[in-house]
Amino acid sequence: MARRTKIIATIGPASEDASTLRAMMRAGMDVARIGLAHGSLDDQVEKYRRVRSVAKELNQHIGILVDLPGPKIRCGRFPEGGVDLAEDQVIKLGIGETVSSKEVISVGYESLLGDVQVGDNLAFGDGNVVVVVEGRSGDFLEARVVHGGHLEGNPGIHIPSDRLRLTTPTDHDLKLLDVFVELDADMVAVSFVRSAHDIRRLGVEPTPRGPLIVAKIETKAAVENLEGIIEASGAVMVARGDLGSETEIEELPHLQKHIIQECVALGRPAITATQMLESMVTAPMPTRAEASDIANAVFDGTSAVMLSGETAIGRDPENAVATMARITERADEKFDYEAWAEHIQGIRRRSKNDAAYLRVTDALTMAAARTASETDAKAIICLSRSGNTVRSVARFRPKVPLFGMTFDDQTANQLTLSWGTRPIIFEERDTPAATAAEALSTAARVGAVRSGDTVVVVSGSRATDSRATDTLNVLQVP
Ligand code: PEP
Repeated sequence: MARRTKIIATIGPASEDASTLRAMMRAGMDVARIGLAHGSLDDQVEKYRRVRSVAKELNQHIGILVDLPGPKIRCGRFPEGGVDLAEDQVIKLGIGETVSSKEVISVGYESLLGDVQVGDNLAFGDGNVVVVVEGRSGDFLEARVVHGGHLEGNPGIHIPSDRLRLTTPTDHDLKLLDVFVELDADMVAVSFVRSAHDIRRLGVEPTPRGPLIVAKIETKAAVENLEGIIEASGAVMVARGDLGSETEIEELPHLQKHIIQECVALGRPAITATQMLESMVTAPMPTRAEASDIANAVFDGTSAVMLSGETAIGRDPENAVATMARITERADEKFDYEAWAEHIQGIRRRSKNDAAYLRVTDALTMAAARTASETDAKAIICLSRSGNTVRSVARFRPKVPLFGMTFDDQTANQLTLSWGTRPIIFEERDTPAATAAEALSTAARVGAVRSGDTVVVVSGSRATDSRATDTLNVLQVP
């Protein structure tokens, strides 16, 4: 069985050259993530263009996810080689973006002294080091190291989100968004979301004209307002780095399951992110716990798994992608498709405000998945302009291959995130019947299906209306 769970890999200094990108695409990267918190805008745009050009050269659909920094606060750069902070050591935190040292860490947040309070825990990196604030002296906060560890580069610092005055998206986010919407970015991730309102403030057009919006769930408020955020977004990321600093660590696995379930129930792709193969930043093999973590995320129902530092700064990005591909493929084989089909019946729901046409899509895609499993269908072929119908089928996790057939390049790129979906571009014809016939012959031409195969085809009866997914056929490929 081919892999169904999608792989997102973060592009950074270790992976931004064309030959590493090529190797990662061949190893199984479906989506390239460009974090906009690091580097200059010119560098980020160049990176974006390079990913596009390598994907074109390989003739592969590779989605690009640009990740807006949000109110992410960073420390001033540590000296080459980093520093080690020991438990119980007392350090000072001051405002600024100058260099940090073992004794004094500069923090790029103007309201640090006013917003952070005695007793607050602050986490550096993805929790490598945790300090508790004990007091203030002059222009500095004094803090004691609770969990010691190594800090290098200019790591992020997690300040409890309910203390922060900054909201998301920031003005800087909105400027970056404009640039990347202009470049036709496929997906945009929004950091530190707290409510559906934060998503609506982006003001982008619906997919596929606008990018698919990925809400990163990494604050307590986002967990509380989860349903509204999912409904306002195109997909959701369980951003375990910051979420793990914001909540009790023992709650994290349960929050992961809960967030994934809610996304699947509402038909949105869910991404599980951070430290999935962390040891591979330096090691050639993952830990046993990491291999199990990835497989368990697949069993939780995640649509995609994400690599961060492993591919951005790791020693062998291609190996990290290939390892993730092997672990997910094996987990996909062991996935209990029958149990999922029953489970999803119980949890699927549409939002109260959904238009009537979405109820038709909901019912029809459920019927398509059921029909495929009860006939000897070799594939589900789903014709879709916006990609919504394909994502709606994908939530049922059909065991047979799922082809998302579209005329639109951006839709195809957005479908790289959709569980189990292979995007295929084909040409529209004059009538819905001729379009469906063209889809079948394109699927056969690219080797997705073979002559004589029985396939389930989901499509619309009105050629010009992307909303009307109202036709289900069981056909034989001529
Ligand atoms: C996270 O916090 O897990 C995350 C993915 O966000 P970022 O890496 O952008 O801080």
